[in-house]
Amino acid sequence: MHILVTNDDGVNAPGLLALAQAMRPLGNVSVLAPDRNWSASGHVKTLHRPLRVKETSLADGTPALASDGAPSDCVALAILGLIREPIDLVVSGINPHANLGYDVTYSGTVTAALEACIWGLKGLAVSVESPEDLRGPLDYGPAAQVAYRVAKTVLKNGLPSGIVLNINVPYLPAERLEEFTITRQGLRIYRDELIRREDPRGRPYYWIGGDLPIGVEEDGTDYGTITSGGVSITPLQLDLTAYSAMKTLSDWRWER
Ligand code: MN
Repeated sequence: MHILVTNDDGVNAPGLLALAQAMRPLGNVSVLAPDRNWSASGHVKTLHRPLRVKETSLADGTPALASDGAPSDCVALAILGLIREPIDLVVSGINPHANLGYDVTYSGTVTAALEACIWGLKGLAVSVESPEDLRGPLDYGPAAQVAYRVAKTVLKNGLPSGIVLNINVPYLPAERLEEFTITRQGLRIYRDELIRREDPRGRPYYWIGGDLPIGVEEDGTDYGTITSGGVSITPLQLDLTAYSAMKTLSDWRWER
């Protein structure tokens, strides 16, 4: 098995190292990740500038490649031939914040996995919900164990084509992460605020600030599940068509 590991936090992020180490017992691991943080960059295809790739290594000495492209560019580069050995599975993460509900279209972690899906490969996105008041380094170990178990299961069972798994793990010790629940996307509540300030030359600039998003605690959803301490696994697809709206819209008479 050949597993590509990437992320959206940059090649030096500790979550990437934990994920690469967790995948190693499952096969040959290649790492190709962005050279900087692309969190909340969405699904990107870089068209108007060249992409550069550099050889580097992770903190444990694992050889890695770093690109100045987005997470989805990294996956495309690898699949389109930068990495010669055919890839069986793309795993993205571990992101230090959950990717829930509508987060998935913003998420570089999730869109890297979606890029794998575009090329007909299996993709997993892994995120851990770190506590806001966490002091000291985040322990990626438990989430890495979850990633290992899900990846092993996916390699055994396969995935329906066109499906990506979005895995969100609550910040709990490994022994408390026994329950894996298949969920749907929940409702996020964004608390963004537009902040307007002036630069030293008196010109306005804007910052989208505010508090971190919360969500609606509903059973069966990604948000509800991790809030109650379960591991959430949401199957996602790139087909965003709102089938339920098609009939209504088809009956419209279009204005002249
Ligand atoms: Mn991130």
